[in-house]
Amino acid sequence: MSDESLPAGTTLLIKGGRALTPGADWHQPPCIDIAIAGDAIAGIADAYSLAARSEIEVIDARDHLVLPGFVNAHYHSHDVLAKGTLEEVPLESWRLYALPPQYPPRSVEEVYARTLLGALECLRSGMTTVQDMLTLYPYEDRHMDAVMAAYEKVGIRVVFALQYADRKGIETIPFWKDTFPAELHPLLSTAAEPERQIDLIGHFESTRLKAAPRPLMSWALGPSAPERCSPALMQRTMELARRYDIPVYTHIYESRGMALQARMTLPEYSGLLIRRLAEEGVLDPRLNFAHSVWLSREEIELLAEHGAGVVLNPQGNLKMKCGIPPIRMLQDAGVRIGLGCDNCSCSDAQNMFVAMKLFGLLAAVSDPIPGPPQAIAAIRSATEAGADGARLGHTIGRIAVGFKADLTLIDMNDPSWSPMNSAARQLVHVEAGRGVRTVLVNGAVVVRDRKLTSVDETTIYEAVKTVMPEFRKDFAVISARVAKLQPWLDRAHKQIMDAELDIERLPFR
Ligand SMILES: [Zn+2]
Repeated sequence: MSDESLPAGTTLLIKGGRALTPGADWHQPPCIDIAIAGDAIAGIADAYSLAARSEIEVIDARDHLVLPGFVNAHYHSHDVLAKGTLEEVPLESWRLYALPPQYPPRSVEEVYARTLLGALECLRSGMTTVQDMLTLYPYEDRHMDAVMAAYEKVGIRVVFALQYADRKGIETIPFWKDTFPAELHPLLSTAAEPERQIDLIGHFESTRLKAAPRPLMSWALGPSAPERCSPALMQRTMELARRYDIPVYTHIYESRGMALQARMTLPEYSGLLIRRLAEEGVLDPRLNFAHSVWLSREEIELLAEHGAGVVLNPQGNLKMKCGIPPIRMLQDAGVRIGLGCDNCSCSDAQNMFVAMKLFGLLAAVSDPIPGPPQAIAAIRSATEAGADGARLGHTIGRIAVGFKADLTLIDMNDPSWSPMNSAARQLVHVEAGRGVRTVLVNGAVVVRDRKLTSVDETTIYEAVKTVMPEFRKDFAVISARVAKLQPWLDRAHKQIMDAELDIERLPFR
């Protein structure tokens, strides 16, 4: 093996790491050097010669696994402060605890602090890109500006969408309207409610899509869920997405109740939301459907036919009693499968290692017949598929020349990696995040020796402490309100669970 000369313009060299490049054996990846020039990967070689090039920063990556930074393809920064507040709660009830329409307006300080904290957790877990589908309700520009400032300060790549809807939540959940007394209806809401003050999409277009690009920020659109959006709103969304060539993120079939709602309200489409979208002409590769637990086989085939993808969020789906997604059916159909960690109040951890492990485990029980190995599929979902879904698959999600230098280095001097039998399997089934040592975004080292370099982490924890009294006060009020609603919530939930449905994704029924 002879040493090669460094590519012109090299600013940083990652030396001797075992890298998951597209062509490598991901079970026993070889040691290589990765040369970075500015924000991009300029060269990959067995070894580069460093003689007389002392101005170049060298990161010693021996005994490290080097992987493309994870893409957290479904996340909401609005409830970062609610991590650890809840245990098992049915999805429909959880919405009342955690989602912005239930809360009084937040302070700019709180919005800024929670965005910083969420970004910090993502980076420290090896994520270099996060798709934030944020509900700001009621919308205020100063909140949006605080979010943008926090992300820029931390230095994580963001695919940002505002979440919106034009149908009231109570209209979209089975049995709520008939079960709750009318005087309680104003207390019921979901992920996004119709915005009364402004035309949110028009405002987003004029203030963000048409504005000068920001280096680490790309835009997306976030119709909350098809049942919460009229056909006209979905049409407008897709027209805008096609005009600006940006991705669209929405929720679909997270819970049994969401599938039941479709069956009850869409007889003209055989009760299938995906068929509705296909016939409305809005189903295309720009669409990413978060959850997709209760997709039918016919809908999976429609997704494959139209090139639309899904984003699975196994942590929250289990805690919210939603069920097991049909992973093997999605794989067999060739549907793009990204991975996300969803809200902090339902998934709690922004941890792609947990998501990948659950992906592999749930794949095993999603089909009675033994299937193919899933570790490499889980890693591809956590990296490439998330990048492809964001329409950034040509620049991030892979370690290749010309791609952005978004990399995560895992320290293998750890029990998780001894003995090293398979890098891919140990990344998915053993490593839990303890080994994340160095993270690069756009060629910049944003985590070094397990610490954020862009912001003093203690200032983030202090900022969170400052805003928590107000958050806790409001959370207590909300919890007391949900407790009063509990008898009707339980009754509606039982009706959802007892109703007949043509598919099943829960093991205990
Ligand atoms: Zn979500």
